[in-house]
Amino acid sequence: MMRNQEMSKPLPGISEENKPFWDYMKQHEFRVQKCLECSKLFYPPTPMCPHCMSMESEWVKLSGKAKVYSFVIVHQARHPAFAREAPYVVAIIETEEGIRYTTNIIGCKPEDVFVDMPVEVVYEDVNDKITLPKFKPVN
Ligand SMILES: [Zn+2]
Repeated sequence: MMRNQEMSKPLPGISEENKPFWDYMKQHEFRVQKCLECSKLFYPPTPMCPHCMSMESEWVKLSGKAKVYSFVIVHQARHPAFAREAPYVVAIIETEEGIRYTTNIIGCKPEDVFVDMPVEVVYEDVNDKITLPKFKPVN
């Protein structure tokens, strides 16, 4: 017998470093860090710029527009909570600012997803701490 706890999906762990990302996500803002030294954007969250090792950064808001960089269609999921939704798409999207992010493509059939497909962010409020960014085709 399946207990409720086992049916809930694994969620991202919140750490000191990535907490701002999830706090902004909660406000339905997709923000990443921008280095104040070299002006490059970076993700995942880290105190040190991966480009120039500066420790100075700010959180800047992305447009939410992206394209599919690569993807797989998951037909059989190991985790029971995901199995109910199979088939679904796990994709790496690239935002127009150049940030790559692993997510799900929703709002279309998995077989309709293609590389370079224009997508935009939608925010899925999972619980009171976590909002997940997912992406759907731009109409
Ligand atoms: Zn830098």
